[in-house]
Amino acid sequence: MDTIVAISTSPGIGGIGIIRMSGEKCFEILKKIFEPKNKESNIKGYTIKYGNIIDKEKKEIIDEVLVSYFKAPKSYTTEDMCEINSHGGTIIMKQILELCVKNGAKMAEAGEFTKRAFLNGRIDLSQAEAVIDIINAKTEKEKRALINQLEGFLSREINVIKKEILSIMVDIEVNIDYPEYETVEVTNKNIINILQDSKNKLNKLKESFDDGKILRDGIKTAIIGKPNVGKSSLLNVILKEERAIVTEFEGTTRDTIEEYITIQGVPFRIIDTAGIRVAENEVEKIGIKKSMELAKEADLVIAIFDGSKKLDEQDYEILNMISGKTSIIVLNKVDLQDGGQEQEARKQILEVEGRGENIEGQRKIVELSALKKIGIEELYEAIKELYDVDKISVEGENIVTNVRHQGLIQEAINNINKAIEDIKNNITIDIIAIYIKNILDSLSKITGENISEDIINEIFSKFCLGK
Ligand code: GDP
Repeated sequence: MDTIVAISTSPGIGGIGIIRMSGEKCFEILKKIFEPKNKESNIKGYTIKYGNIIDKEKKEIIDEVLVSYFKAPKSYTTEDMCEINSHGGTIIMKQILELCVKNGAKMAEAGEFTKRAFLNGRIDLSQAEAVIDIINAKTEKEKRALINQLEGFLSREINVIKKEILSIMVDIEVNIDYPEYETVEVTNKNIINILQDSKNKLNKLKESFDDGKILRDGIKTAIIGKPNVGKSSLLNVILKEERAIVTEFEGTTRDTIEEYITIQGVPFRIIDTAGIRVAENEVEKIGIKKSMELAKEADLVIAIFDGSKKLDEQDYEILNMISGKTSIIVLNKVDLQDGGQEQEARKQILEVEGRGENIEGQRKIVELSALKKIGIEELYEAIKELYDVDKISVEGENIVTNVRHQGLIQEAINNINKAIEDIKNNITIDIIAIYIKNILDSLSKITGENISEDIINEIFSKFCLGK
C-alpha cells in the first residue's frame, strides 16, 4: 500500500498543526525531510523527537517541529506512522505536506487512515464508524454511547448473537442427516428457542435506536405562532440562558435554518424561520402558512400564543393544526396580565383541549413571559417531562445510533421472523437454512465482513481528511 499523508488538524490557523503520515515508506520519507537534534538513528515506537523540517533542495528550514513515531503494528493504522507537530500556520503545514508528497507520499483521501485501521484488521467497521460519529457528536451522552461502540461493545454483542445463530446450523444438519420425526421435533424446538432469544436481543438493540436518534439528531422542534406573539424573544431567552453553542444547518424546507442546541442536557434541533424576509403586509399570511409547514416536519411543536389577549381565528387555526402532535402550548406575555384574573386565552385553550379533540398527542401548557423571563423554568420542566434524556442510560449499554446498523438489525429480525414461521409450518429445513444464512449476512455487515467495496468507500468518504 502507498504511504499516505494529510494535514490532520482542522483547516485554519492554530497553535499547533499536525501532519500525519502512514505506510511502508513513512520513516524513509521522514529521514529525507527531518533533521532531529538528537542524531541517534534507530527509530523506536512511541517516542518523540525534536528537530527541523528541512527542504534540502532549497536548503531552507521550513519549521521547528516535534515528530511522534509509531512503529508497525502498534499504530492507529497498524503501519509505520508518524505525526509531525508543527506550528499551526496554513503555509507551514502546506509546505510540510508538499515536502512529504515530493519525497514519495501520496495525499490521503478522506478517512483513509481509519480505513486502513479497518482493512488491516485493527478495528471492525462498526468501530470505524464510531470514530467519525464521535468527531461529529453533538452531546456528551451521544459521545459516551459512541465511545462504547469504539471500544467494541456493539461488535461483541453482535458476535454473540451470530454465534448463537451459527449453532442452529448444527441442528439443521442433524435434521438433514437424521430426518426421523422425533429428532426433527426436538431440534426444531431448539432452533425456535435460539431464534427467539436472538430476536429479543436484536429487538432491544433496535429499540435503543429511538434513544440513539434523540442523542444524535436532537428533537426536531418548531416554534410556531402568529407574528408578534414572542417567538424570537423566547428563542433568544433560551439561547442566552443556556449559553448555547448554536450550530446552524440549512433546514429541509426553503427559508429555514436549523439550530442545534442543548437545553438542560436535552438536545434540540430547532427549526427557525429566521431566513424569511417578506414585505410587512405579507408577514401575517406567511407566518401561518410557514407555521403549518414547520409543525408538520417537527417531532415537538412549541406553539406560542399571546396570553394577554383573547385567542383569535388564527390562534384557533394553529391549535387545531397541532392536535395530535407532541406539543407545548406557551401562553406568553403573562406580565401583561392584570392581577389574579384568569386569562381569557388560557380559558379558551382549556376549552379546546377539554373538548377532547386534541388529546392524542402529549401536550403541556406553560405560562410565561419571555420579556420578563418569568416561567422559563416551567418550560424546561415541561420539556423534561416529555423527553427525559437523563433516563437514557449509556453505561454498559449498547445504544444504536447509526442508521446503517439499524437497517441491518431490522433485516436480521425480518429473517428470524420468517424462519420461525416456516419452522412452525413445517417447511423443509433447507429453506430455513437460507434464512439463517441471511441473518448471519446482515449481522456480519454491521461489523464489516462480506461487505462490498462501494459501501466501504461510501462510509469512509464521509470522514474528514487526515482521520
Ligand atoms: P415574534 O414575531 O413571534 O417572533 O415576536 P417577537 O419575539 O418579535 O415579539 C414581538 C413583540 O412582543 C416584541 O415587541 C417583544 O418585545 C414583545 N414581547 C415578547 N415577549 C413578551 C412578553 O413576555 N411580555 C411582553 N410584555 N412583551 C413581549
